[in-house]
Amino acid sequence: MKRSEYFQKRLASGDVITSTRFCPAKINLFLEVTGSREDGYHTIESVMQKIALCDRVTMTISKGEGITIASNDRTLPTGEKNLCYRAAELYLNAAGITAKIDMMIEKRIPIAAGMAGGSTDAAGVLKILDEAVGALNKTELASLALSLGADVPFCLFRSASICRSLGEELSYVKGLSACHIVVAKDRKESVSTKDAYRMIDSLDYTPVSVQTVAEALEKGDLSSLSSSMMNRFEDVILPLRPAVGVIKETLLSCGAIAAMMSGSGPSVFGIFESEDDARRARDLLREKNCFVFMTRPWC
Ligand code: ATP
Repeated sequence: MKRSEYFQKRLASGDVITSTRFCPAKINLFLEVTGSREDGYHTIESVMQKIALCDRVTMTISKGEGITIASNDRTLPTGEKNLCYRAAELYLNAAGITAKIDMMIEKRIPIAAGMAGGSTDAAGVLKILDEAVGALNKTELASLALSLGADVPFCLFRSASICRSLGEELSYVKGLSACHIVVAKDRKESVSTKDAYRMIDSLDYTPVSVQTVAEALEKGDLSSLSSSMMNRFEDVILPLRPAVGVIKETLLSCGAIAAMMSGSGPSVFGIFESEDDARRARDLLREKNCFVFMTRPWC
């Protein structure tokens, strides 16, 4: 009997499966836009690093039909517009299973902040379902992940990676060594990734290679990492959003060895060797009315 058939029988006999997963945010230690394709998508070269700032997805799978989503964040869409809804629907279709799915998404990752919040939740949904059902192989899962979004394959598989093409071509890179990370975002700011790419299109620049950052990570050399980190989106977002620059300066003035915007922003992260310095930055930014999190690399 196929695993999906066995699973369907378990549900039919009244089994109810509940599972919870922590879904970590990512930061970009390097992000270059290398080109744009005829279909309008942009190609990138990036180093993505997961951090221990997590949403929590709890799912109950039972006999029946339909997908429901609840969340502590009332701004989050709860229907088909939620990436978790689409992830669950895609998985069930691909596995050939009928089930009732009820999800609770506890959001901590800021929304539309360049930290892949939706993508990591969707990857969490795929993982929960695949652990329970076990119907798909790694390639099939990766292809489902990519159809949900370019960052989802990274969220599904690795804690750090060089990401190329649309972000889905993953290759090995050593992740950040032990350090403290402070992530901050002005409460009033958010950035549409689409708009940010549109602005990049009007920039004139020669793309930089990821190589030096990858070598610094390999050696665990934080000072060489700090001098080679870059994010092309800063060129277009920093002039428009002074609050982003203020957060960056605050992190650096508190002793961050590097501070940079993540993704298309507007969240900014600082990397600290000293826990005391990181705490000082966190407290100072809290006083400036930012969302602030102090965390570590996700292993
Ligand atoms: P990325 O870094 O991958 O560009 P982001 O962190 O900038 O993503 P998200 O937090 O994923 O952006 O949110 C982008 C949009 O996706 C928002 O408009 C949000 O309403 C929608 N969305 C759908 N599902 C989710 C989810 N589970 N969590 C967060 N946002 C979601």
